[in-house]
Amino acid sequence: MKYIKYTFIILVLIGFVYFVAGQLLLPRETPNGNYNCQEFIADWTWIKPDGTRIAITIPGTYDAARNEIMTVETSIPEDLGSNIKCLQFSSSRQDMQIFVDGVLRQQYSTADTRWFGKTSSGAYVILELDPADAGKKLTVTFQSDSSYSGVLRTIYYGDKMSMWIKMFKDYGAELIVGFIMLVLGIAASIISIVLRHIYHKQINLEYLGWGTTIVATWIIFNSIFRQLMFSNLSTASDITFLTVTLIPIPYLLYLNSVQSRRYQKWYSIAGGIVVADSVICSLLQVTNLVDFSESIKIILIVCLSAIAFMGFTIICDIKKGYTREYRLIIIGICGACLFATAQIILYYYQIETTFSGILIALGLIILLFLAAISTVTDLFIMEQEKKQAILSNQAKAVFLANMSHEIRTPINAVLGMDEMILRESTEENVQEYAKDIHNAGRTLLTLINDILDFSKIESGKLEILPSEYDVSSLLNDCYNMTATRAKAKNLDFQIENSPDIPKRLFGDEIRIRQIILNLLNNAVKYTPQGRVVLTLNGRLVSNNQYILQISVSDTGIGIKQENLATLFDSFQRVEEKKTRNIEGTGLGLAITKQLVTLMKGTISVESTYGVGSVFRVELPQTVNCKDTLGNFSTIYAKPASDICEYHESFHAPQGRILMVDDIPINLKVFKALLKNTQLQVDFAESGQQCLELVKKNTYHIIFLDHMMPNMDGIETLQAMQQLIENKNRSTPVIMLTANAIVGAREEYLADGFADYLSKPVHAEKLEDMILKYLPEELVFYPDETGTKPTLKTSGDFTDNLSFLDTAAGISYCNNDKAVYRMVLDAFIRAQSHIKLHNCYKKEDWKGYSIEIHGIKSSSLTIGALDISARAKALELAAKSGDIEFVRVNHDAFVEDYRKLLAQLEHAL
Ligand code: ADP
Repeated sequence: MKYIKYTFIILVLIGFVYFVAGQLLLPRETPNGNYNCQEFIADWTWIKPDGTRIAITIPGTYDAARNEIMTVETSIPEDLGSNIKCLQFSSSRQDMQIFVDGVLRQQYSTADTRWFGKTSSGAYVILELDPADAGKKLTVTFQSDSSYSGVLRTIYYGDKMSMWIKMFKDYGAELIVGFIMLVLGIAASIISIVLRHIYHKQINLEYLGWGTTIVATWIIFNSIFRQLMFSNLSTASDITFLTVTLIPIPYLLYLNSVQSRRYQKWYSIAGGIVVADSVICSLLQVTNLVDFSESIKIILIVCLSAIAFMGFTIICDIKKGYTREYRLIIIGICGACLFATAQIILYYYQIETTFSGILIALGLIILLFLAAISTVTDLFIMEQEKKQAILSNQAKAVFLANMSHEIRTPINAVLGMDEMILRESTEENVQEYAKDIHNAGRTLLTLINDILDFSKIESGKLEILPSEYDVSSLLNDCYNMTATRAKAKNLDFQIENSPDIPKRLFGDEIRIRQIILNLLNNAVKYTPQGRVVLTLNGRLVSNNQYILQISVSDTGIGIKQENLATLFDSFQRVEEKKTRNIEGTGLGLAITKQLVTLMKGTISVESTYGVGSVFRVELPQTVNCKDTLGNFSTIYAKPASDICEYHESFHAPQGRILMVDDIPINLKVFKALLKNTQLQVDFAESGQQCLELVKKNTYHIIFLDHMMPNMDGIETLQAMQQLIENKNRSTPVIMLTANAIVGAREEYLADGFADYLSKPVHAEKLEDMILKYLPEELVFYPDETGTKPTLKTSGDFTDNLSFLDTAAGISYCNNDKAVYRMVLDAFIRAQSHIKLHNCYKKEDWKGYSIEIHGIKSSSLTIGALDISARAKALELAAKSGDIEFVRVNHDAFVEDYRKLLAQLEHAL
């Protein structure tokens, strides 16, 4: 192959050398005879309208008046030679008539073939001569309503073919360059438009594409070959002028863009002048007032000024040091400007030379080429930066995934252990501390979940996972999770719905719940008194397309009009001063908005400052069920106080499960959570230990943590699957992880896990999961019927406590009635009023404020809101030294406190 390659190159080189040598050294070959085209030199006479005869030479310019018929005369040579010859006359926008011995033989005028304009366009007129014409009188008349009326261009004499060959030699290159430019200009424009759509970014090269196309059009339409290409010369000639007026515009647009619109104002003025010039000159041409050919000087001055202006901005940029951004382009522009200026000057002075349009064309091609290089470089850099950004975003996502594990795991441990304390401790202050831990832990978890959600949405990892859901269960969740908080603030919380909403819908229930809860939480947070209403409506838009309309209204602090625009931006908290004491990150509404957008829905807000707000959301859902929901608040809504008291949902003393987690405290939590179920639980603190245990024992379920040192959950599962002595090949293995990134579930299932349970583990979810996989014969339910216990909603001790806000109390007790009962007992036992009164008697105000502080919180915990509020006032007074207030109120307070204790004792 190597030799073939070299032989090929040598043959090409030999061929080229052979051709050049042949052209230079061998005699000229003329298949159609010798080319014969020469200047026609004759003695011409100008016959003026008054009959005066003046000898003139052609070419030349004479002072014939506008519209004057300029008649010139000479004799056709005696010796015309053997070939039939032609005479070629050039019309400079002149009408022409050619007579031989007084007989009209040829004429040119566009007076009847154009829509407007006062003169004919320039053209070549050829008179074919007969041998009999030798020696006859040749008379030519020229007439033009323009400054060209006295301009007589060179006349050529020869055979027709030779004339076109000469013209091609003189002007052919210009035409070819014109067509090349046209192709390049169109290609650059199309490529730029495509790139603009791909990268969603303005590609400056597009303007140069337009510019190059316009210049190419000018060159082609202005070419002397136009009379061979176009059937109507007038329109072609008008386009020539129009393009000249327009040429500066794309270049102004281009440079303005390249210069980052630093001189935008000036560019607007310059562009405005060019456009005005173009419009005015076109109007003058169309109305026959002034032909383009007459206004061309102004047009060229405007063009030159635009070029000068662009040069000026470049000089300014050079001075200011901005040119680094577009150095390559400056080189191109300077070259092109020089060529353009030279071209315009030549045109202006009508200097007849081989057309130098070829130079301007070359200048512009070089500019286009350099700009293309610059664009490609820019895009390359942009692509690199994009890749970099994607990489760092991925790193951020990985970091967040790890962080979710790292932070949620300890929170899981804290909340789990705390739950144990809440369940088991009877000490009042321990309960109180545990509740504080619970509240703070929940807040922290919410915050982390918000940040995770936000970053998942940001990195496009949050997926909408639709499935069929029960609207009543969605509303019930929202109701239960809001009612207690609303009650604690003494707000009236209502759910209203149109009864014909479908009972079941198809959509992402979890995300819809998140949206509603975000709005409800805000409504409760930002409403000091009054009402919060969640309204659910909807409309059927097609057979099974349903628009779910959610609205959350409140009578809260409202939002100022000027803040509404930025309300849905991330980390945006409006009126920081007013909301400083209200917990929040400014992420809730941003997440809500993004979730709504992901579901192809809409969200809007109306608010009156100081009066309240209404947030409205519309979400498209699919509906497959004909049943309707009915009135939610009368049929379904159960007060939060009716939520179950915790007790295990089953017993399974024969069931055996294995839990693998590297963090001992997680194992402890797990054990405690399952204590009442009587399950046998084994623990392993590493993948290795797990492998040992599965060789020895058979389990009904294995819970495997994901992130463990040495061997992680997935590797452990793989090792278990390959382990020959494994006695648990058919045992379901459930992934237990704090990694909450979307898509994780599918990955785990693909890895061979039976299911997935996310941390922090909820006792109920854990029990549900175990029930799902535990053989049914091992499970029995603790009540007499042997069936799964149902939620106890009536007939319990809280029925006798109408003098307390039991809902608030239970909510402070982790929604656990058993805990609430213990707290009440502790409250009675404490008899705190005695200690308080002792301090009062001793006037020990420090001790008094400590005791009253305790009473304030313990009475709040049981739902004695009035006593708590009064204790708070006394505490403030004692602390600030307002002893008078204490003296006035103490006795009545202690009396009421005692009454409360008596009522409690009686009720319980
Ligand atoms: P935050 O965590 O601060 O509540 P959000 O994104 O949920 O963050 O809300 C952004 C801001 O919008 C809040 O800080 C609050 O100023 C304002 N806001 C949201 N909902 C309401 C409402 N129902 N009433 C009054 N202001 C509201």
